[in-house]
Amino acid sequence: MLKKVLIANRGEIAVRIIRACREMGIRTVAIYSEADKNALHTTLADEAICIGPAPSQKSYLNMKAILEAACLTGADSIHPGFGFLSENANFAKICKEMGIKFIGPESTLIDLLGNKSQAKQTMKKAGVPVVPGSEGLLNSKKQALELAEQMKYPVMLKASAGGGGRGIRVAYTPEELEKDYDLVKQEAKIAFNDDSIYLEKFIENPRHVEIQILADEHGNAIHLGERDCSIQRRNQKVLEETPSSILKPETRKKMGEVAVNAVKEIGYTNAGTIEFLVDKNQDFYFMEMNTRVQVEHPVTEMVTGIDIIKEQIKIASGEKLTYQQEDICFTGHSMEARINCENPSKNFMPCAGTIKGLHLPGGNGIRVDTAIYSGYTIPPNYDSMIAKIIVHGKDRQESIQKMKSAVAELVVDGIQTNADFILEILDNANFLNNHYDTSFIAKEFDINK
Ligand code: ADP
Ligand code: ADP
Ligand code: MG
Repeated sequence: MLKKVLIANRGEIAVRIIRACREMGIRTVAIYSEADKNALHTTLADEAICIGPAPSQKSYLNMKAILEAACLTGADSIHPGFGFLSENANFAKICKEMGIKFIGPESTLIDLLGNKSQAKQTMKKAGVPVVPGSEGLLNSKKQALELAEQMKYPVMLKASAGGGGRGIRVAYTPEELEKDYDLVKQEAKIAFNDDSIYLEKFIENPRHVEIQILADEHGNAIHLGERDCSIQRRNQKVLEETPSSILKPETRKKMGEVAVNAVKEIGYTNAGTIEFLVDKNQDFYFMEMNTRVQVEHPVTEMVTGIDIIKEQIKIASGEKLTYQQEDICFTGHSMEARINCENPSKNFMPCAGTIKGLHLPGGNGIRVDTAIYSGYTIPPNYDSMIAKIIVHGKDRQESIQKMKSAVAELVVDGIQTNADFILEILDNANFLNNHYDTSFIAKEFDINK
C-alpha cells in the first residue's frame, strides 16, 4: 500500500483526500501557495510545503515545484484531485519517470482521452455510440459549413482540449457558425493554448448522464451507476443527482455495460467518468471521458457506500478491486448542490472575501464537503466553489426536502453565494416534476445573459 501521498490540489477536494488517507493510515503532504498559508488543507495534512506565489501558474500548476516537494518529503505518490494538473498527461508521465505513483490512469490514456475529438473516435471504435459530428478535427471554416449543411443545424463547435464548460458554442444558422468558428478558436487558444476544434450535432433538450467507473490494474472493471448532471449554467454543472429520474432500467443497464466494456477495451485504469447525452428516445451518445475523480463523486458514494478516493488509492497501490459488478447495490437517492462564492446581483460574478460567520448544515443524511471556516479569507485566485452539500434520502422527493432544509440552514456571513439560487431551483415546478433537461436554467431563469 502507498505510504505517503502528496495532494497536488487545494480546497475541499484536498481536504477530502487528506481525510481518506488518514482513515487508511497513510501519511499526507499538502502543497500550498502563498495565498493558502491559512487554508484548511494546509493545516490538516501531516506536512505542508509552500510551492509558490498565489497565481496557479506559479503554484498549483508549477510541476517542478510540486515534484521537488514530493522528493523533499519522500512522498511515494501524488493525488491530483480535479482541475489543475489532474488531466495533464505530461505531469503523470514525469511522475512515473521519477518513480512517484500518479493516482490516476497511465499518461498515455490521459493524453488519448484529454483530446476530446480523438477520444470520440477511440470510443466509437470501442463500440460506444458517440454524438454524430466531424470525423476528427476541423481544418477550415468551409469544412465546418459543409458538414453542418449535411448534418442539419443546430450544430455545436467544441474545443478539443476544452473543459469546465468553456470553448463550446451552438450555431443555428451558417451565419452563426461562421462567427462561432472564429470565437471558439480564439477562446480555446486563450483558455487551453490549443485552438483545435471539432463539430457535433447539437442534441436538443438532452439529459447529461454520466457513468462512474473503477478499473484496477489487473483488467477488472466495474461501474458505480450514473449521475444526472443536467442542471447546468453555461454548460457547467450546478446540481447533480443519482439515480437519474429519466433512465429506464434497460437504458441504465446498457449504459453501464457499454461504459465498462469501453474501459476494458482501451485498458483504462483507476477512477474515471464517461459522460453521455441522453435524448428523448433514451438513445445515448458519448460526449467525453474525464480521467480523474469528479466534483460530484460524493452522490455515488452515498448510494453505493463505496469511498471512491480510497478505491483510487487502493487501485494505485496495485490492489485488485474487491467488488464484482453484482456486489454493487444502490440504496435510495442522493443529490449534490455546488455552493459558489458568486454575486447573484452581478450576474453571478465570482467574488472573494472574508467569512465573518459560518454555520454549516448537518443532520441525518446530510454531508458537507468544504474547506471553509469562520474567519477564513477566500483568495480571489482560484475556483469559486466553496462547498458541496450532499444529501441522501430514500427517494428523490426526500432528497429534495433534505437539500432544501440543508441549504436554507447554511449561513456564510461576509460573502455572497448562490445559495438562494439553489433554493429557487429546488422550488421550481418543472424541476420537481421531472420536466427538465440541460437547458433548464437558461429557460427558467433570466440569468444566462
Ligand atoms: P466535473 O466534470 O468534475 O463535474 P467540471 O466539469 O465542472 O467538473 O469542471 C471540470 C474541472 O475544471 C473541475 O475540476 C474544475 O475544478 C475545473 N474548472 C471548472 N470551471 C473552471 C474555471 N472556470 N476555471 C478553471 N477551472 C475550472
Ligand atoms: P466540458 O469538457 O467542458 O465538460 P462537455 O463536452 O462535457 O464539455 O460538454 C459540457 C456540456 O455542454 C454538456 O454537459 C452538455 O450540457 C453540453 N453539450 C456538450 N455537447 C453537446 C451537444 N453535442 N449537444 C447538446 N449539448 C451539448
Ligand atoms: Mg464534461
